[in-house]
Amino acid sequence: MAAPTPAYADGPVAALRRIAFLLERTRAETYKVKAFRAAAATILPLDPEEVATRAREGTLRELAGIGASTAEVIAQAVEGRVPARLARLEEEAGGALVDGGDGIRGALRGDLHSHSDWSDGGSPIEEMAFTAIELGHEYLVLTDHSPRLTVANGLSVARLRQQLEVVEAVNAHLVAAGSTAGTGFRLLKGIEVDILDDGSLDQTDEMLSALDVRVASVHSKLAMDKDAMTRRMVNAVANPFTNVLGHCTGRLVTGNRGIRAQSQFDARRVFEACVEHDVAVEINARPERRDPPTRLLQLAIDVGCLFSIDSDAHAPGQLDFQVYGCARAEELGLDPDRIVNTWPADRLLSWASGGAGR
Ligand SMILES: [Zn+2]
Ligand SMILES: [Zn+2]
Repeated sequence: MAAPTPAYADGPVAALRRIAFLLERTRAETYKVKAFRAAAATILPLDPEEVATRAREGTLRELAGIGASTAEVIAQAVEGRVPARLARLEEEAGGALVDGGDGIRGALRGDLHSHSDWSDGGSPIEEMAFTAIELGHEYLVLTDHSPRLTVANGLSVARLRQQLEVVEAVNAHLVAAGSTAGTGFRLLKGIEVDILDDGSLDQTDEMLSALDVRVASVHSKLAMDKDAMTRRMVNAVANPFTNVLGHCTGRLVTGNRGIRAQSQFDARRVFEACVEHDVAVEINARPERRDPPTRLLQLAIDVGCLFSIDSDAHAPGQLDFQVYGCARAEELGLDPDRIVNTWPADRLLSWASGGAGR
């Protein structure tokens, strides 16, 4: 006799979102995830009665964005059963991503590096925020790309200005909907600003000063000569707006974008500049980055740097990547108080604005 199907009370939107989350956290290709996010967005505004009727009558697929597999998930959830696809994924993809890291992960209160579909992320701002709340975060810094990174649809001054209004609206909505009740969650204004060839930052001072947190990263000319790259990075770190030095070597160690060697620079000088200017070195948790490499991470610890363990999520499920960075930090015995995103939001914000005020 077959085991009875477990009951499921969360409804079809939650089932579709959970499937997408599990696919994203295990780095499934975007096209596999898109269908589930699109289907969730389609049925979210509908009357649940209509969804139930359509599920019974088999007319879900008449709705834009609903296909065979998403219709099946919806129908099973509507009947109060755990959708088969969800049950399978929970088993395959719901477990721990990595051995260790739980202690530091438990101490993290937020994430300082994330992207939405305003630049090269795959999901709307509010979906990133909802998922951050579900992960227990007290804050998420939205850090879409800056203008010169055209391949990633970097934000012009005008679009960034518009985005800041959207961030305020999302926060107001979350408070009004009671979504922030448990954690006091705040979506913070940020940017992943390109470090230009001479070390200057790719956004106006006026806009940079309107933000809560600024991550500065090198994305171009990674193969630059060592002395020039050192000057470039030290300049960027010395910029009073810079709070976090993002994925410092730019290396790629695995994944479908291929392998890329780390850029060459005088790491001791760069990390000493980080200490001097109160800039945190990012431990970029994306599995294909693992940046900085262990030798450099140990050097940054020895030099006395602060750190930020960031997901660099380009999709909601990727917000769960942080634990990879936590495992690395734990292995090297990094003191959690030196990780700025273990700090409460107020302490984080005062640190970040101190940087801007010097
Ligand atoms: Zn980046
Ligand atoms: Zn990024």
